[in-house]
Amino acid sequence: MKRKIYFLIAGCVITVAALAPIQGYFIYNTYKLYAKEANAKITQELLRLETTGELDTINHKWMRKTKQFMSDYTEGKVTRADYPRIMKGMSDSLSGEIQQCIAKDSALDNYNVTYTNYVTSALVCKDTTKPADTIFTGKMLLYGTNTQNVVESKASQSTWRDATKRLGIGAPESAFEVVTTRYYSIANWEKQVFARMSGLLIFSVLLLVFVVALFYLSIKNLITQKKIADIKTDFINNITHEFQTPLGALDIAVKTLQRKDNMLTEEQFGNSIAIIERQNRRMQKLFAQVTEASLTTGIETGQAQPISCEEVQDMISDFALSHPEITIECEMNATAIYMDKFHLGTIFANLLDNAVKYGADTIKIALSETDKETIITVSDNGMGIAEKEHKLIFDKFYRVEKGNIHTAKGLGLGLYYVKQIINAYKGIIRIESDKGRGSSFTISIPQA
Ligand code: ADP
Repeated sequence: MKRKIYFLIAGCVITVAALAPIQGYFIYNTYKLYAKEANAKITQELLRLETTGELDTINHKWMRKTKQFMSDYTEGKVTRADYPRIMKGMSDSLSGEIQQCIAKDSALDNYNVTYTNYVTSALVCKDTTKPADTIFTGKMLLYGTNTQNVVESKASQSTWRDATKRLGIGAPESAFEVVTTRYYSIANWEKQVFARMSGLLIFSVLLLVFVVALFYLSIKNLITQKKIADIKTDFINNITHEFQTPLGALDIAVKTLQRKDNMLTEEQFGNSIAIIERQNRRMQKLFAQVTEASLTTGIETGQAQPISCEEVQDMISDFALSHPEITIECEMNATAIYMDKFHLGTIFANLLDNAVKYGADTIKIALSETDKETIITVSDNGMGIAEKEHKLIFDKFYRVEKGNIHTAKGLGLGLYYVKQIINAYKGIIRIESDKGRGSSFTISIPQA
């Protein structure tokens, strides 16, 4: 069973570890597909826009200025440093116009597209037979609203060649060449794509959570089954062991009584009867424990009444009489405990029995009270209980010694029943203990 659980856990971890990257890969591919689709659509739309008259009108404005500049430059009226300044002067108004143009196109507006046009090189040739002058190379903004931290994609590039004017008849022709490159960018690109993919993302996360939850439940279920199987085996072992001793003793006592040689002395007869009585009581106690533990109805507290310290002392004295080897110290500082006598007796019987069973030779019992509750403390100097067991010892059938080890007899029902009684009275039981340091059980029962 243990191996089965380990295999299942390993299988689950491997499946989830394999499933997560596969899903991640599919999501990444879908993201790329979305991006490719969006880019293709935007470029196509921009190309269409570039052929419309509206964009031509905007472009003519800077082209006219450029042609004027080239002409002035050939005549020596301006320097190359003036070109960026002139272009910058008109870029704001052109940008506004272009943005309006983009906004009218629903496909582009949908993607929040910004469109930018740059002069990437400008050359002028006063004499076409001679090498050209470079007016500008780099990236000079003509129009657009692009911010610097947005990734730009190239939309198109064009080269515009034109002549300025002849400087005179027979004079060499003056010409210029301006290369412009247009870019587009999409604001909040990742956000936009993720928003479009949100359905798919949510679905894949839910699927993964569902698979993990399914695995978790299956493993939990298997562990619970293993626990139940272990408890069953332990219980059968314990109960067999518990009944073996009294049955063995009864067998001997009955055989002694059945002796036909009439050699039985009065004392032997008395002893045999006492053995039968004791073992009978012991078996009845065992039966009672098992029956009480299997009770589905709650413990009735209807017979509750004030139990005085003297009555408690009597319960303890009965126990002390049958265990003369144990030192019992009592400190009674309470008026009364409001409980059913039988229930309080069962609590003491179980706690004191356990103290003896688990190695104590001194037991301290203290009774005290506050305004609201009566506090019972039973401490012993026995073998103690490791901290990790504290939460479990009140569980049905739980024993610290597991498997078929029986240094101390028991069915793992004593503390379970004690806890059930205390719960019925709305009380609390706490344990302070550690291995080799004795145990101390503190019970608080509300005052009536
Ligand atoms: P059991 O029949 O095994 O005694 P209990 O429910 O009374 O069942 O106790 C549960 C387990 O708690 C025991 O198996 C034992 O290991 C541990 N235990 C209970 N009381 C003491 C104690 N006073 N000292 C040490 N161990 C204890």
